[in-house]
Amino acid sequence: MTSLDEILSMLGAIIPPLGVESVVLDQGLGRVLREPVVASEDQPPFACSAMDGFAVRLDDQSSEFRTVDFLRAGDWRPRSLALGEAVRISTGAALPGDGLQIIMIEDAEISGDRVRILRRDAVRHVRERGENARRGDTLLAPPRRLSAGALALLASLGVPRLSVTRRPRIVHIATGNEIVAPGRTPLPGQIRDSNSTLVRAFLAARGLPVIQHRAPEDFATTRALLTDPAQGAPAADLLLISGGASVGGHDFTRRLLAELGCEILVAKVASRPGKPLIVARRGVAVAFGLPGNPLAHFVCLHLFVQAALGTLAGLPGETPFFQEGVLAGALDNAGAGRETLWPARQSIAGGAPVLEPLRWSSSGDLTPLARANALIRVPGGARELARGARVPFVSTTPPA
Ligand code: AMP
Ligand code: MG
Repeated sequence: MTSLDEILSMLGAIIPPLGVESVVLDQGLGRVLREPVVASEDQPPFACSAMDGFAVRLDDQSSEFRTVDFLRAGDWRPRSLALGEAVRISTGAALPGDGLQIIMIEDAEISGDRVRILRRDAVRHVRERGENARRGDTLLAPPRRLSAGALALLASLGVPRLSVTRRPRIVHIATGNEIVAPGRTPLPGQIRDSNSTLVRAFLAARGLPVIQHRAPEDFATTRALLTDPAQGAPAADLLLISGGASVGGHDFTRRLLAELGCEILVAKVASRPGKPLIVARRGVAVAFGLPGNPLAHFVCLHLFVQAALGTLAGLPGETPFFQEGVLAGALDNAGAGRETLWPARQSIAGGAPVLEPLRWSSSGDLTPLARANALIRVPGGARELARGARVPFVSTTPPA
C-alpha cells in the first residue's frame, strides 16, 4: 500500500509536461502559458485623463478659463495652451500636451465656453504613459494558468496567439458487466453507469475532452479495445480505466496494464475510500485503474488524476493542495483504521473556510456528491473530531 502523499509526489516527479501548441487568444482560457509575455509598448501607451473635467496648465493659477477644445476618448489633437485656456476632456482621452492638470467636472461651474474653478486638487488626475508597465517588462511569466483577467491583459497588449501546453489525449473505459448507460433501465442485478458521467464532467470542468468507452468485464474484449488505434487508447497521454482495479477473481485491470507493457507503480493506496487504485506508466503516458465505487472514484479523480493533469499541463504542485479549515459539525471516523478523505461542503464564515462533513454510508454512496465541494483529510485511527476542530482539506473545484 502506498500513502496518498507518496502517490502525489510520485506523480509530480514522473510525469513530464506535454509539449506546447499555439492557440488564438480566445482559446487561451484555462490553458497553461508556456512562454513569457513581454509588453510591446508602454502601458498606457499615451498620457490620458483619469477624470471627466478640464485640462489646464499646471502653472496657471487662474480661477476662470476659456474652453478652447473638447477631447473625447479616441481623439488625438495635441496643442499648447495659453494662460487662461482650458480643454474640456473625457476620461481616457489623450492629453493635448505636457505639463497639464485635470480639474474634475464636479469642481467646475460651466457657463457657455467659460468655466469657473471651485476647487483645485493637489493631484493631477492624469494617467501617465507607462505608469502601469514599461515596454520590455515581463507581464506574465510561464508556466501560468490563464484566467479571464490574464487574457484581458494579453488583449490589451495586442497578443494574437499564445504558446500553451497542448491538451492531453485522454481515454476513459468504464468496465463492468453490471453497468448500463444512464438512459437505460437496468435489469435485475444491473446498475446505471455513473462513473462515465462523473469522469466526463470532471474533465469538462477543466476544459478537457475525453474519448469514452463502456466495456464488459472481459479481458480479451478490453484488450482489443485498448490496442485498437481507432479507439484512441494507444495514443492516449492519460488512460483511465474504471472498475476491475481490485483483487477480486474478475478484476483484470492490473493484469491488462501489465500485458500492455505498462510499469505498475502503485497497486493500492493506504487511504479510503479508494484502496484499489492502480497507477501505471508506459513511456510518458500515465494510466490509472480507478476503483469502480462511485465515491472512491470521486476521491481518486480529485486527488490523483487532478495531480496528474497539473503535471501534464506543466504545473506540478498546482493542485491538489491541502488547506486548513474548521469543522462545522462533529465527524465520527470511529472504526476506520485508515486515513479517510471525507466528502464535505466548504463555505466561508468569518473569513475562514468552514467544512460541513457530509453523511456517507460506504464508498458506493453517491448521495454526498449532491453537495460535496471538498474532501476533509481525517487521519487514520482518529475516532471523533469535535465541531470546531481544525482539519486539512482539499477543494474539488477546478484550478483557476
Ligand atoms: P469494481 O471496482 O469493478 O470492483 O467495482 C466496485 C463497485 O463499483 C461495484 O459495486 C460496481 O458495481 C461499482 N461500479 C463499477 N463501475 C461503475 C460505474 N461505472 N458506475 C457506477 N458504479 C460502478
Ligand atoms: Mg467491476
